[in-house]
Amino acid sequence: MGRYTGPSCRLCRRQGIKLMLKGARCETAKCPMERQWRSNPPGMHSWRRGRPSEYGIRLREKQKVKRYYGLFEKQFMRYFRLAEKQKANTGAALLSLLERRLDNVVCKLGFAGSRAGARMTIAHGHIYVNGRRVNIPSYLVSTGDRIGVKPADRSLKLIRSRLEELGEPHLQNWLNLDMTKLEANVLAVPTRDDVMIPVEENLIVELCSR
Ligand code: SF4
Repeated sequence: MGRYTGPSCRLCRRQGIKLMLKGARCETAKCPMERQWRSNPPGMHSWRRGRPSEYGIRLREKQKVKRYYGLFEKQFMRYFRLAEKQKANTGAALLSLLERRLDNVVCKLGFAGSRAGARMTIAHGHIYVNGRRVNIPSYLVSTGDRIGVKPADRSLKLIRSRLEELGEPHLQNWLNLDMTKLEANVLAVPTRDDVMIPVEENLIVELCSR
């Protein structure tokens, strides 16, 4: 699967919000979004651009979600089609599906500093789900799943050092973590309220339903 290899901060500057793509660095003064003169949209003459069109506003909202979760168009549309089939509100169902991705959960648990880091941790086989190795970052967790670390010194040491570096995670109600066992439980399916970035999902639905 392909991945974006360009500058991450450029994506935040384009969206105009902090997407937290670089882990611990995003919390420091080195973040360009913390500096007025560096937080402008990328590209020459960005200040000359006029008001965005209705389409532009909707597109920006979709791009924000795609970039936050590190997805390409095809992957994103796959989640959208799945959300459309659900009885719940399509926008809320879409965000709930994206929150359930294993790379998102690993990042939230503090086992990695960013979603990109979490994808690498999973692909390298350090993460177990219900006692079995899962190396697919797009795996969707469900209520009752147990997420743990490979019982090998190298993996345990790696995850412990990350937790030390990042500090104890502030978990939402749908997740809990046993810091001694390095094991987490999914207590419920995440809802719309559990999504951390400001997003107007109805605009995404309007754009993608065309
Ligand atoms: Fe870069 Fe992180 Fe700041 Fe975004 S939030 S601009 S990725 S340092």
